[in-house]
Amino acid sequence: MVQSLRGMNDLLGESSDKFSYIVKTASKVAERYGYSYIETPLLEETALFKRSVGESSDIVGKEMYQFIDKGQNDVCLRPEGTAGVVRSFIQNKLDRKGEKQKFFYHGAMFRYERPQKGRLRLFHQFGCESFGESSVFEDISIILMIKDIFDNLGIKHKIKLNSLGCNECMPKYRESLIEDLENKRDELCEDCGRRIATNPIRTLDCKVESCQDKLSSSPKITDNLCESCDADFEQLKSILTQNDIKFEVDKHLVRGLDYYSKTAFEFVADGIGSQNAIAGGGRYDRLVEFLDGRETPAVGFALGIERIMDLVTLEESEPEGYYFGVLDEENLGELFNLASRKRGSTKVHIEYKKRSLKSHLKNALKMNSRYCAVLGSEEVKNGTIWIKDLQAKFEDVVSQESF
Ligand SMILES: [Zn+2]
Ligand SMILES: [Zn+2]
Repeated sequence: MVQSLRGMNDLLGESSDKFSYIVKTASKVAERYGYSYIETPLLEETALFKRSVGESSDIVGKEMYQFIDKGQNDVCLRPEGTAGVVRSFIQNKLDRKGEKQKFFYHGAMFRYERPQKGRLRLFHQFGCESFGESSVFEDISIILMIKDIFDNLGIKHKIKLNSLGCNECMPKYRESLIEDLENKRDELCEDCGRRIATNPIRTLDCKVESCQDKLSSSPKITDNLCESCDADFEQLKSILTQNDIKFEVDKHLVRGLDYYSKTAFEFVADGIGSQNAIAGGGRYDRLVEFLDGRETPAVGFALGIERIMDLVTLEESEPEGYYFGVLDEENLGELFNLASRKRGSTKVHIEYKKRSLKSHLKNALKMNSRYCAVLGSEEVKNGTIWIKDLQAKFEDVVSQESF
């Protein structure tokens, strides 16, 4: 028997119910914040991810589903959602209009990782990207929006914040960090040793505990911000506090790519193990330019749908619509016509097999239908249909015409 690929799951039954509930809830909230839906291809040129996600990252270096297609194009299944949206933004010349543009997306992402709890090779993200707005209030709006999404889904979470500075303050900070790291090189893990040259900022969120101990004394970006970055970060914290939003500043929360600047944030949930980050994002004012577009400030986030599926409890749905059944097979045609007309206005289930009234009623309850409508030869003769309201426990025989 052919099986699905490792790390790639089917979604059906309860998991697909939860999946579509999450997408619907998040989309509704995003629309309230002025975002509109964007759909971009799952397959893109590999160069797009090399340039945006960065060749030194694990995602691009080790985890891409990359191949040469029949036309000799170097292509790749998208490992994340932002790159495609930014490409589309530039390709459609929206960067030239100078208007504010806000998009939300959701869909499949692919990373060739070792499958483990919380990590799949095919997973789904919901994300938003806001272009053209440099005000820190837009960062705050995005954080409030994510909080709304999780509150609507009933997911308890914590918010972690940091600032990554800008073109002016980040390079100076990076120099002082490199100097500090060089002095500690022998005490850091192998990965961090390599990062000093390739991506020193990334050492700050190294998962090795001894590195974290050594790095606790290293200079922090938030103590080295320029005036403008510092003012924005202070305002961000103050507005969140005024809105009763709890957060903690995590000075080791980083993104590690040059086009990220200022606000960085992460939402974490309790009780789902080490992979407890459920959403992350921040400001990326230089990415549009980086991909050959016109300089455009931008801020965005993505949340992992599979990561939060276990944290969502679906409410039991109210009984809805009609269940139709016949007592004799020869009446099925007539029942089918009656039932089909109802499909224009409500949920309809038609049982094609003849059954006893008792068995139809049992079936209707199982299907969570509000009404059970049954046609026997008596009803056909009289041009009527028998109906029971399963919620109000009330039954009646009505004319087919008025039905
Ligand atoms: Zn700055
Ligand atoms: Zn390390």
